[in-house]
Amino acid sequence: MSYETRDKRDKTLIKNIMVDNIRNILEFYQVLGFERLPIKLVLKSGRQNSAEVHKSGNNFRASELPSFRTSEQKETALNTLREEIGDCKRCKLSKGRTHIVFGEGNPGARLMFIGEAPGREEDLQARPFVGGAGMLLSRLIEKMGLKRNDVYIANIVKCRPPSNRDPEMDEIEQCRGFIEKQIEIIHPEIIMTLGRISAQTLMGNMKLKITATRGNFFDYNGIPLMPTFHPAYLIRNPKDKWLTWSDAQKVIEKLKNKG
Ligand code: URA
Repeated sequence: MSYETRDKRDKTLIKNIMVDNIRNILEFYQVLGFERLPIKLVLKSGRQNSAEVHKSGNNFRASELPSFRTSEQKETALNTLREEIGDCKRCKLSKGRTHIVFGEGNPGARLMFIGEAPGREEDLQARPFVGGAGMLLSRLIEKMGLKRNDVYIANIVKCRPPSNRDPEMDEIEQCRGFIEKQIEIIHPEIIMTLGRISAQTLMGNMKLKITATRGNFFDYNGIPLMPTFHPAYLIRNPKDKWLTWSDAQKVIEKLKNKG
């Protein structure tokens, strides 16, 4: 076979693989409920078509989000995402976990709580915030006039770090796409992050101090985000509970204004 023929055959092979990959990605988005992709076709100098994809990191902007209108559609999309995660081995946390803790709650929730990573009890039960910190979070949710199954609760990292250490950067990077997709699907009216790691990850600043940011609303792709203390910190520092309560009151007020 001549060099030209081989080169032509390789190019065709690569093109077919690329087409297959694109088809797989599009089919995945279709299953998630996307009816169209946020792609704007720009006609350049009257001749050439170029695609301008509006993305910030891995996220589509809220204003351009495909609409998962009903809770049922959101639930289906979340189930599909859970299947996509599968028996994840993308990072070293998979070695020590018992269960993946995907998240739980109302797919149509107006309010979403995001913690850091599962602890011992969460790892055993495959449910977020069911240990000591979880009991405190449940009390906060009830004090806010809501029930646990009104809201959606998830973590940045889906597997328990050994001895409950902080998740490491490579683990966060492997997992962050999943919480970003959960937020895209649920598209809550407000996000409350619990503790430093979740605020830092979603706000894209790993230097951010929770004491300096909590109590203020920030923007996460068009969704107001309120950072507050982690319930485990509040168990150790009960005198700061009132600060989290004051953050929660701001969230209640904003939900009332939106509702
Ligand atoms: N701490 C977290 O950040 N998440 C949980 O699910 C439990 C404890």
